[in-house]
Amino acid sequence: MKAIVLFGSPGSGKGTQAKMLTQCLGIPHVSTGDMLRERIRHVAERGNGITPEKAARMAAKMHSGALVSDQVVNQMVEERLSDPDATDGFVLDGYPRTLAQAEHLDHWLDGRGTREVVIHLAVDYNIIIARLTGRRQCTRCGTLYNMASQPPREDTLCDKDGTALVIRDDDSEPVIRQRLEAYERQTRPVLEYYASVNRRVVMVDGSNDPPEAVFRKICQALETDDCQEDGRGTGEDAP
Ligand code: ADP
Repeated sequence: MKAIVLFGSPGSGKGTQAKMLTQCLGIPHVSTGDMLRERIRHVAERGNGITPEKAARMAAKMHSGALVSDQVVNQMVEERLSDPDATDGFVLDGYPRTLAQAEHLDHWLDGRGTREVVIHLAVDYNIIIARLTGRRQCTRCGTLYNMASQPPREDTLCDKDGTALVIRDDDSEPVIRQRLEAYERQTRPVLEYYASVNRRVVMVDGSNDPPEAVFRKICQALETDDCQEDGRGTGEDAP
């Protein structure tokens, strides 16, 4: 079982790297942020065992940039990792984010006789701020831009349909500050935990290179020959 943890601050590029890794390794991308958003979206339709009040509390936490409770997230991840498609491994993105989550994951992995490999995507703080505050979205077609790395041709308009671009609620400066604060206070200490239990943590500098170059560094660190340099798999079932 390949248990890979992508660790890093909001805006460090975990989601992008996780997608490239899952594509080449053929194991699922498990993003707790995506799963929580999905749960909240579907709560009214499917029930999901979550009351609307609980879903509203989760949504409020996320909108404020604070973390959702360990109990909710641990249970959600445990269920997901037990799905048949995760038998050979998974790439965790956004989990563990607290000490209690790291210990929970370790316990779960211990039961399966395996250990996680942690990839720490380290990105300069000023670059993180530029990335997070630079995000803009088209209100009509949903296309995302980044004023730092993928700017539109005209500062305030969508390239595709000329509609005005907006900053989403969760990318507002106070929420970004709160997300980064939660990272420093609750998530960064998880690295000390991993050091204390001698877990393999590979630090990859993701500050200046384009995503493909960061991905190459991750593949080198994982010593995987499953991946081609552009992030596509070499296996027959690769897309
Ligand atoms: P980012 O890493 O850019 O903050 P995510 O999509 O990973 O974005 O997370 C969005 C929000 O979802 C977080 O701010 C937090 O409220 C919630 N969340 C995601 N993962 C966890 C987790 N492991 N534990 C607690 N809350 C989480």
